[in-house]
Amino acid sequence: MKKYESLKKVDLHCHLEGSLNPVKVSKWTRKSVDEVENMLILGKAGDMENHESAMKYANSLLQTKARLKDAAAELCKDMKLENVVYAEIRLDPAAHLEKDLTLKDVVEATLEGLAMSTLKTKLILVMKRNYEFELNKSIIDIAKKYLKKGVCAVDMAGDFEDCSLKSLKELFVYAESVGVPVVIHAGCEGDAKDIDSALSLGARRIGHGIKAIKSFETMEKLKKLHVPLEICLTSNIATGIYGKYSEHPIARLIDSGVMVTINTDNRTINKTTITDEYILLNKYFSFTIKDFNEMNRVAIEHSFLSDKEKAELSKEFI
Ligand SMILES: [Zn+2]
Repeated sequence: MKKYESLKKVDLHCHLEGSLNPVKVSKWTRKSVDEVENMLILGKAGDMENHESAMKYANSLLQTKARLKDAAAELCKDMKLENVVYAEIRLDPAAHLEKDLTLKDVVEATLEGLAMSTLKTKLILVMKRNYEFELNKSIIDIAKKYLKKGVCAVDMAGDFEDCSLKSLKELFVYAESVGVPVVIHAGCEGDAKDIDSALSLGARRIGHGIKAIKSFETMEKLKKLHVPLEICLTSNIATGIYGKYSEHPIARLIDSGVMVTINTDNRTINKTTITDEYILLNKYFSFTIKDFNEMNRVAIEHSFLSDKEKAELSKEFI
């Protein structure tokens, strides 16, 4: 569908590790593209063991500065091909310390790769709910060091069953004290309380947040605080949260007045592109180009760009 491919787009929620280009990986590993795809693409929706092994394989490939740089540059190339004009890329820096890299090496190499492209990007550093406090704190510290030098925020990801966001409060207080903005993966599963916690901890955007649909109060809070959701439609199907696209609450969230943005999450693992997401949203929910432009304006408004950059970029979506 050429009209969606040529449409300008913003992606605020895309993990580098889950979005490796299979042809590039084939060159790195000298395995065939088919073989690489077998290891990187989720075979069956909801198969979380397979999801974990694909992510592990991706992480195992990204243990040198050269690979991180190459992977980041390649992702920008892929995004540019489908007319992404701005992206906030996520990186789980602690997943790349298996050999001899430090957090600083990992962040610097990734930023170098991103800077090789003319695509406007920023980097979000991912903490995990199951990481030790000190490790997460050191991710905030490295984010602070590179803030306004390519890094724009930290994220909290990981299984909500591993620990509650409330128990991690000290980390969020610390991030705020050093001036590092926070986005949080919350309310992917379970109920809406996880989203309430993320909001009370100062999340500027909510990753997924689809379970907001279960609570009128949570949706009202999202609206009152002007916090948008980073919707990743195919990712929610791939991980088995919804059995069918038509069951996804995106349209109901919008009808309730909640702000949403469209994102890919893990392009390769979930076998999607941002263009595919637009095509699916048109197919299942009849979203139009006007709707997509509106969602992209929301994305820009709630991005970590400067006010001047936001004003310039917004002109592309009128
Ligand atoms: Zn994510």
